[in-house]
Amino acid sequence: MTQKPINLNEPIGDEVKSTTCYMCACRCGIKVHLKSGRVRYIQGNPDHPVNRGVLCAKGSAGIQQHYSPARLKAPMKRVGPRGSGEFEEISWDEALELATSWLAPIRARNPDELAFFTGRDQSQALTGWWAAQFGTVNYAAHGGFCSVNMAAAGLYTIGASFWEFGEPDFEHTKYLMMWGVAEDHDSNPIKLGLGKVKARGAKIVAVNPVRTGYAAIADEWIAIKPGTDGLFAFALMHELLKADRIDLEYLVRYANAHWLVIRDPGAADDGLFVRDAAGEPLCRANGALVPASTPGISPAVVGEYALVDGRRAVPVFQLLAEHYLDPQYAPDAVAERTGIAADTIRRIARELAEVAFDQAIRLPIAWTDSAGREHADMLGRPVAMHAMRGISAHSNGFHTCRALHHLQMLLGAIETPGSFRFQPPFPRPTPPVNRPGRTRKENGALDAAPLGFPQSPADLLVDAHGQPRRIDHAYSWGYPLAAHGMMHTVIRNAWEGNPYRIDTLMMFMANMGWNSAMNTSETQAWLTDRDPATGEYRIPHIIYADAYSSETVAYADLVLPDTTYLERHDCISLLDRPISDADAAADAIRQPVVPADRDVRPFQSVLLDLGARLRLPGMVDEDGGAKYRDFADFMVRHERAPGVGLLAGWRGAEGDRAGVGEPNPNQLERYIENGCFFRHEIPETGRYYKMANCGYLAWAADMGFLARQPAPQARDGDDAGARAPAGKALPAPIVMQLYSETLQRFRLAAQGHGAQQPPAEHRERVERYFDPLPIWYEPFEMAAVDRTRFPLSAITQRPMFMYHAWGSQNRWLRQIVSSNKLHVHPDTAAQAGLVDGQRAVLESHHGRVVAEVRVHRGVEPGTVWTWNAIGKRRGAWALADGAPESARGFLLNHAISDVLPVDAHASDARPAIADPVTGKAAREPPASTRVRFANADPVTGQAAREPPASTRVRFANADPVTGQAAWFDLAVRISPAGPGDVLGDPGSTPAPPARDRVGMPMR
Ligand code: SF4
Repeated sequence: MTQKPINLNEPIGDEVKSTTCYMCACRCGIKVHLKSGRVRYIQGNPDHPVNRGVLCAKGSAGIQQHYSPARLKAPMKRVGPRGSGEFEEISWDEALELATSWLAPIRARNPDELAFFTGRDQSQALTGWWAAQFGTVNYAAHGGFCSVNMAAAGLYTIGASFWEFGEPDFEHTKYLMMWGVAEDHDSNPIKLGLGKVKARGAKIVAVNPVRTGYAAIADEWIAIKPGTDGLFAFALMHELLKADRIDLEYLVRYANAHWLVIRDPGAADDGLFVRDAAGEPLCRANGALVPASTPGISPAVVGEYALVDGRRAVPVFQLLAEHYLDPQYAPDAVAERTGIAADTIRRIARELAEVAFDQAIRLPIAWTDSAGREHADMLGRPVAMHAMRGISAHSNGFHTCRALHHLQMLLGAIETPGSFRFQPPFPRPTPPVNRPGRTRKENGALDAAPLGFPQSPADLLVDAHGQPRRIDHAYSWGYPLAAHGMMHTVIRNAWEGNPYRIDTLMMFMANMGWNSAMNTSETQAWLTDRDPATGEYRIPHIIYADAYSSETVAYADLVLPDTTYLERHDCISLLDRPISDADAAADAIRQPVVPADRDVRPFQSVLLDLGARLRLPGMVDEDGGAKYRDFADFMVRHERAPGVGLLAGWRGAEGDRAGVGEPNPNQLERYIENGCFFRHEIPETGRYYKMANCGYLAWAADMGFLARQPAPQARDGDDAGARAPAGKALPAPIVMQLYSETLQRFRLAAQGHGAQQPPAEHRERVERYFDPLPIWYEPFEMAAVDRTRFPLSAITQRPMFMYHAWGSQNRWLRQIVSSNKLHVHPDTAAQAGLVDGQRAVLESHHGRVVAEVRVHRGVEPGTVWTWNAIGKRRGAWALADGAPESARGFLLNHAISDVLPVDAHASDARPAIADPVTGKAAREPPASTRVRFANADPVTGQAAREPPASTRVRFANADPVTGQAAWFDLAVRISPAGPGDVLGDPGSTPAPPARDRVGMPMR
């Protein structure tokens, strides 16, 4: 067959511009080829450190995201009832004046009446700062419903976490374990890394109920039951401890294994560290108590010791060993619950130990540790781990993530060659030092960013009665370490007025009317519900900013249309979630490669404009005019601290400074010349053992990541050869926390100690779940429902080819998958009387959906699963009527409750708001929740009266430590669908008809 010759050298376009991909959160570098001003082709940037030229299906399809028919076209004001989708286009001036007219009185009256929540927008360095300047505590981004368990567990334990703050050492690892890793997060970087691991023949083990994507190329698939990863990790540690295959020297040098813990049950300091007068934790060495950081000692790690006052104390390691060696964590004891054979658990433990200890590696790199010891090389334990949402989206996820870090530490496999490595600016001190903002300054701004990390009950945002001060209840006794906020609770709470009514809900790029909400049908009802007394909406104003006509647009009163990622400046900042790798700090920008062809504006610039109109501190100059022209101007000129701005590259008047330096007016040009990224390498001697490596600590101090401190003084009895280098003011080393004193402080409060104690209805829960060592417990929903009625687990996976809800409106990506199926193991399908292609009903205690079955061997038999966010609401996203996404797809969220089953943890449970059988939303909040604490000052916490008992507790379907949404705790049953069970969008009403005059495309 003859083939027409193809000219492979024909130019694709007439212009090429660099920017950064935004088709997922990996932020690869791209080159956009333009022809006559239109985007023609997107290519991976071969020089970019994230993707080295690789481009995935999503990234290539960015062209169709940019030209999507679902793009919003102009600002819109609602003219019909909420949810109807009836809007009229208005000018930007009118839109911003309307927003200002709502927000200005709030700021004057009580800034907390603004709830500002954003999705996966990658601009928290701006949005969080803006919220602080506005003065509202009610701000968060998407982390609370994504993976805050992983972030918080890591930051409170090792000073970093998986994914954005760390990575496996793909170059050197000999054994890679992936836990709950989905294919969308960490896309191109992990693909490149897995390629290296496979090429070297190293072993990859995937721990996941589902075998897709990366798990499909693993050498071994551990088909674990959802929610039991912690139990598996416990059993591995049980085996390692039993066999004495642990790295004790590592645990003492870099973690707190030897710190002494007071053992004095009932006392106010039981479980806290033994400290000296200066607050230094102490250990026992050579028969005496000495500061735990004393170099050159051989401290006791087991035993029980008397303190001078006669009380007893034990080293952390003793507690840890007692804990994990409990027979309940033996492989035989956990095999049935985890679904992993005991022999397999024992073998994996053996393999981990063999690789870590018998196949240890040494890199010939000399370095000096923070105790002053000089090392001729770097010892590596080449076991690497990576984890994602699969382990964290459970109500036991925080402790599971901590357990994984324990497992890594026992093997000495954090930040050594071949193991898990930190990405700068991490590691950071642990527990983290920045607490959440609590009070307002004279200018109305919060005293700190709204999101932070409590270190004790004193840092919570609760009122004088211990009730939440935030609308999402983050940092309350229900979810004390909710470090990313709890966006998934906002709409219910705002509707209930719990703990108070808000005036305006402003959301950016968060599809809370659909796939980002649990209990979707009721959420839609809450958004449209009116107060019968006034006839007004219970949530008076909703402002929504997005580039696309997502399901949530229909519920807004004011729509602020954003640009596509090819039309604006963005900042991937080291103050936010950077693109660093383990060898270098890196950040990046996006630049507009094409002008917007609609009446849309970048939301970041809109936010700054709004801030100037509201005269927010930091956003207006002395004359009262806007301080920043737009977001690009902000990126260059804004300083968070002297010399520290959003971008780390080419700082200083001459553009010759990295990390810290005065603003450089030509900074963006320098980024663009360099392909829109900046990368600054760590010196070779500082690339491993970053938590205690003088080379790294000095570099991190120069970059502004860690504060310098006076060098530790030599102490009596020091080994002369092991003293800290004299005269070098380095940041303090970061000591990894096997035992968390922070958690113990909350537990002590629950036991009745201290000035801040939880209300009675929270005590038992706080005491149980604030264990200073990792614990495992049955995920709440699984424990609460009758598993004979709901014997299966249901989870979602995100496909490689789509990210969140964005992809399933993209005409190229829709050709890969346009309707999601329910994947069921063949044995499970047979037991339920189902065959491939048949319609099935999936029911939970909360709701039901109809789905098409796809029989799939790559799933453990007790789990069913589907791709997330492909099912769409009819009429949204400019999809045609009858589009497979709405006609055949489904949204599992309809079956997921946003609160725990009525009796679970409820000390004073009130009736379910939804009918548990039909899922139909009650139109009225229960009378008991209608209370509005009008006389309570949410800033000072001075409540005028006790909240009624009936408002006390109905816990969110979330982790009790961090508030992370427990998406994967869902217990279900499946059965053949009946004649009346039709496919397509259950629980939602059709979107309204098209209105040609507005920018919102409809069916
Ligand atoms: S991995 Fe993500 S950021 Fe990279 S090209 Fe693909 S979609 Fe874009």
